[in-house]
Amino acid sequence: MCDLTKPHFQSADKAREYLEELRWNGNPVCPHCGDSGAYAISGGRKGLYKCKSCRKQYTVTVGTVFENSRVPLNKWLMATYLMASSKKGISAKQLERTLGVTYKTAWFMSHRIREAMKEDTSGPMGGEGKTVEVDETFFGRDKTIKPKRTKKGRGYHHKYKVLSLVEREGKVRSRHVPAVNANTLRPILDEQIDKATQVYTDEAAQYTMAKPAMFAKHDYVSHSKYEFCRGDVNTNMIEGFFSIFKRGMNGVYQHCSKEHLQRYLVEFDFRYNYREKLGYDDPERANMILKGIQGKRLTYKGPVQAQA
Ligand SMILES: [Zn+2]
Repeated sequence: MCDLTKPHFQSADKAREYLEELRWNGNPVCPHCGDSGAYAISGGRKGLYKCKSCRKQYTVTVGTVFENSRVPLNKWLMATYLMASSKKGISAKQLERTLGVTYKTAWFMSHRIREAMKEDTSGPMGGEGKTVEVDETFFGRDKTIKPKRTKKGRGYHHKYKVLSLVEREGKVRSRHVPAVNANTLRPILDEQIDKATQVYTDEAAQYTMAKPAMFAKHDYVSHSKYEFCRGDVNTNMIEGFFSIFKRGMNGVYQHCSKEHLQRYLVEFDFRYNYREKLGYDDPERANMILKGIQGKRLTYKGPVQAQA
């Protein structure tokens, strides 16, 4: 169990010790040259080390998304914990109130923490004997696209489009895609799913993937015929993920811009990938974020129109 009265949420010194222990396990590693072995510099700033190899100085936050921040480290750990444990996410407004920082600071902190949540998604998912569910969802309003007039008046043309791949008992990968068609989806499926995988989709993707056959086995359910499950053939896992994602985007991050959408997807993917069912509780999920703070580059500008 963990709560926000723990010492590393209350004091910057305790937070530094907590992070040092988690990242280095008693053996500091130099962010400049990668060597371990350092002198603790006494008399100066606490937590300052000098590398035995390259002689440069560093602290536990150098080279991480927490570097050069004037926000006390315990508030960073608190924000990290709140983002790790809030099922539908937590808005910058809420962080502003809970942490006692400005809105702008809260906004930057939450995006830096999302950066730490980013995982390597270069290798393929699935494999022999594994099942991957594929589906897309539409939500919100992409203001850069004019709505098309449709008879039913409920087209998805002007909405944000998200493609997600979920491995059964495994991880999810989500992408913001400009359109849902063979041209946009096939390259992603090709790159992200091992060819020996059994793939389940709904019928729409059936057409996308029909020719030539891409995977060992591909089956689908016809949502338009109210068929959601045929034995093992279903996209229930991905529907569950989309349900949490949409509740978060509609309820918490209501004003997400197109530019930042992928960052929110990273956040929802991350929490799903370290979900309780896979054995992670809130403190462990927060620690997984802290293990990802190093070496991430921040390339975005400030919260120009961001409200979330
Ligand atoms: Zn060094």
